[in-house]
Amino acid sequence: CGITAYCGPSAAASRARAALERLEYRGYDSAGVAARHPDGTRVHLRTLDGVAALAEPVGERAADATTAAIGHTRWATHGGVTESNAHPIEDCGGQLFIVHNGIVENADVLRAHLIAAGHRFASEVDSEVIVHLVEQAHRPGVGLGDALADAVTRLEGTWAVVALDTRTGALAATAHGSPLVFAEGDEGAYFASDVGAITPVVSAFRVLEDDDVVEVSAEGMRWHRAGGSCRPRGLWPVPKTA
Ligand code: GLU
Repeated sequence: CGITAYCGPSAAASRARAALERLEYRGYDSAGVAARHPDGTRVHLRTLDGVAALAEPVGERAADATTAAIGHTRWATHGGVTESNAHPIEDCGGQLFIVHNGIVENADVLRAHLIAAGHRFASEVDSEVIVHLVEQAHRPGVGLGDALADAVTRLEGTWAVVALDTRTGALAATAHGSPLVFAEGDEGAYFASDVGAITPVVSAFRVLEDDDVVEVSAEGMRWHRAGGSCRPRGLWPVPKTA
């Protein structure tokens, strides 16, 4: 339903949550945030009680230190409305997280393959196959963006996905039949499924075209299309209300 993500110097968890609040009007049944501290530890919070319930457990001081975060509001399509089915969804090692909008049509087949390969599933959600596919592709020497690009070649359906690696603080995003935008503000970079999530904090945004992959880390931003680096197309002004 709603995706937000932030990579920058500070307060990543709070910024991802504040952006989620701006998408609440769309409706949702559960919400969550995952974030990385510079010391490599992680925050992972999910709730059935609304986005505001994500603020307190993060805590102001802990939240201020986070440098990369992803957030999600869910409208369940596959799997009941429970905390363990809420996004962000983690891999077996608890270091990779993803948020997903859309439907993975071939999730049952992929799940069976992944279980046979030794992956343990913790939810009933179609989206969980994505994080395990990224984990499988994210071998030494393969960046997060390339791992995500590889993972989505296995999917049938629709997706907007943002992945977070809590070891490095890198984010990678891609979309196929589901909207996702990228924007750089004075204080960091954002992804959102709807530009309304980031209207107050950036002045312009770019739209991911189907199968574009965008990677963001402390080293900067890399935009790939069809296996090669490329320059992102059109920069759109953010509509400002008076
Ligand atoms: N299919 C996923 C789920 O059921 C994503 C739903 C959404 O777009 O919010 O959790």
